[in-house]
Amino acid sequence: MQSIKELYKIGRGPSSSHTLAPERACILFSKEFGKQFSYEVELYGSLSLTGKGHCTDQIIKETLPGPCAVSFKRDWDESFPNGFYLKSFDENHNLTHSWTVFSIGGGSISIKEKPVTYNDEVYPETSYNDVVIYMTENHCTIPEYIYHYEPNIDAYMKTVLTAMLDCVERGLHAEGILPGRLQLQRSAKKLMQQAEEADSENSQKLRLMAYAYAASEENAAGHSAVTAPTLGACGVMASLMYYASKDLHIEEECLIHALLCGGLFGNLIKTNATISGAVGGCQAEVGTAVSMASAAFAYLNQASSDQIEYAAEIGMEHLLGLTCDPIGGYVMIPCIERNAMGILRAIDAAVLSMHMSRIKHHMISFDTVVKTMQKTGQMIPIQLKETSEGGLAKEYEHE
Ligand code: SF4
Repeated sequence: MQSIKELYKIGRGPSSSHTLAPERACILFSKEFGKQFSYEVELYGSLSLTGKGHCTDQIIKETLPGPCAVSFKRDWDESFPNGFYLKSFDENHNLTHSWTVFSIGGGSISIKEKPVTYNDEVYPETSYNDVVIYMTENHCTIPEYIYHYEPNIDAYMKTVLTAMLDCVERGLHAEGILPGRLQLQRSAKKLMQQAEEADSENSQKLRLMAYAYAASEENAAGHSAVTAPTLGACGVMASLMYYASKDLHIEEECLIHALLCGGLFGNLIKTNATISGAVGGCQAEVGTAVSMASAAFAYLNQASSDQIEYAAEIGMEHLLGLTCDPIGGYVMIPCIERNAMGILRAIDAAVLSMHMSRIKHHMISFDTVVKTMQKTGQMIPIQLKETSEGGLAKEYEHE
């Protein structure tokens, strides 16, 4: 498995696959070859079909240090479904350099012509079962397991936590219309006002959802957010961290350990299935985020490693098959509301795991549900995997 740092990345919204990944590729390309006379980028797969709504062309043009033509293409011959050709030219329009870039989920990229160092493997264990064997032999907890391989990760995780809290805070104070033709109004601030007026049972739920709206709306506005595991699903973990910090007053060290716990399960899904909506549907994005937040909330409630695994398993199991059908290609509907529902499902999963584990041992392991998620993702039709050619996206356009 790769570093947890590669799971939690800070970057500009609205989509890790469509903005963060192309931005990273363009930065790497410029570092490798220096400033070139001009550039051309051909987008394929989901990057082509929803790239306009996800601002892919805009971020590419802003990042490359010269004039760039971006085209949205079909008939991609490469093995991975989501990618682009990045080419540079001299003043006589002779090709100088060319990369084939794959956007593999959560802002991560791979490049056909060159290995990328941040894709290096850091953890030898590749399943939760392997992690359990390590933890049993070494009598350690999940955070201790992570510190064994990444002893200096705390400084980075502090910046991640701060970025999450800032993102929610900004979103709670922002008003107006989100960019794009949907003309969608921001709702986090008003939802928060309703939370303050509601009875205690609904108030807590509304607060959590307002936090998720706040982070997701900031992302949809193209502002800075944290992939957890993606930008489209950034509201789930961010809302949990904000709630745990501001409402429960849990100390920073404990929040970082909870982020690490959630990160382990996100990393296992990334390794054994996918965190890309274009590959596995929204189960890979919001499903993974819910699984991560379920584990993190269980950790914050002093759950055992077994209960934490059970929480992560429940979190994913009940979102299996969730499709990706963003209206107009914008990371807004159903994405923002889905993040808000996601945080409530995560809390439920953690509570259920801690109580059910007193009654019986769970039969479905986290590793099994990840395998199921991967196979389910392969069966989801392409129209429901971040192409906006099916589901809500299609029905809405027909109305
Ligand atoms: S529906 Fe889910 S996977 Fe698709 S863009 Fe929205 S958050 Fe991402």
